[in-house]
Amino acid sequence: MTEQIANYPIPELLAPAGSLEKLKTVVSYGADAVYLGGVNFGLRAAAENFTIPELEEGVSFAHQRGAKVYVVINAFPFDEDLEELPSFLKELERIKVDALIVSDIGAIKVIQKTTHIPIHLSTQASCVNAYGAKLWKKLGVERVILGREVSLDEAHKIRKFADVDLEMFIHGSMCMAYSGNCTISNFTQGRDSNRGGCAHSCRFEYTLREGEEVVSRDYFMSSKDLEGVDLVPIYARYGIDSIKIEGRMKGPLYAATVTKVYRKALDTYAREGKLTTELIRELKAELEKFSHRKYTTASLLGAAGTESIYDEREHEKSPYQVVGTIQEVGDEFAVMETKRKIFPETELELLLFNGEEVSFKLGDIQDLSGESLEWTKPNQLIRIPKFEAIEQRNVVRGQL
Ligand code: SF4
Repeated sequence: MTEQIANYPIPELLAPAGSLEKLKTVVSYGADAVYLGGVNFGLRAAAENFTIPELEEGVSFAHQRGAKVYVVINAFPFDEDLEELPSFLKELERIKVDALIVSDIGAIKVIQKTTHIPIHLSTQASCVNAYGAKLWKKLGVERVILGREVSLDEAHKIRKFADVDLEMFIHGSMCMAYSGNCTISNFTQGRDSNRGGCAHSCRFEYTLREGEEVVSRDYFMSSKDLEGVDLVPIYARYGIDSIKIEGRMKGPLYAATVTKVYRKALDTYAREGKLTTELIRELKAELEKFSHRKYTTASLLGAAGTESIYDEREHEKSPYQVVGTIQEVGDEFAVMETKRKIFPETELELLLFNGEEVSFKLGDIQDLSGESLEWTKPNQLIRIPKFEAIEQRNVVRGQL
């Protein structure tokens, strides 16, 4: 981590890794650390969790590049769930994961009895005050991930009073409820959101009635997405140790774009001590180049109000889609695996790991044997010019 002018180090950039491929993507685009779910104990669908061999490969990939790996164990476990935990923990210790993200105090006890892996308190535990943070530190927690209801000003006071590492969200989807305390999915869908079953029921349309009269029919429980790129200097000055990107279930275009945007913001702040208006405009424009809900700063600058409600069903559609990833860079050309149909005149942008983009059109699409194609199908291997700084795993987006 780079030292900054004030007393605190430049925050760590923590990105989601919903799969081994996404782990490699976000580490390559500059994440200092990733968080991911191990089989059974995280709050995400099984398909998004890592097996032990995948974890081993992911940790090795991250460590070789100086990045850390945090494993999420934040479902609320019953006693029978805890019985399975020690053997899983021993595997994690062997693999040398860097920390565990935990919400339940019983699980914390089992971890402390079984291993020496550092513990980060999950946002699911809803820590929103300084006394709470100090007590968690006393109980052996090395980092507190604050509830998303805490403002940056409040976080700064917590940091000074509790003297514990703090992590805060800076980008991604939001819950309308305190994390770890939402049961809408339990009641509407029979799925327990605190044991990995959230059905995103807050995103549904609801009807508000007074007696028989329909007062409104709306999406009034859905939150806009968090976006705090212009607030990066405040996170840094206030001693927030880690800025977190939400989105383990999201795709490679989101993972690559958001990671490179916040990497550039942090690096620029570390170097220059500020972000210019021009740079903020450029970074915000990048954050429009994938589908998302409208953005809000939620509670970062003061308690979230009605302006943070997203009263629509669909995401803001973006013309930008991921069209492929670079699989290999050869002597004469690079090889891209396509994700969707593209044409010779489709406008493409190669996202480099150094944060820059290269705009191009293929003109003539060629398969690996050099045969010209009218268009591509998904999962096809095609030739791409060998641009300077092109690397395996670069994401290519297109305006479709
Ligand atoms: S239903 Fe909505 S508020 Fe509740 S846990 Fe799921 S995403 Fe969060």
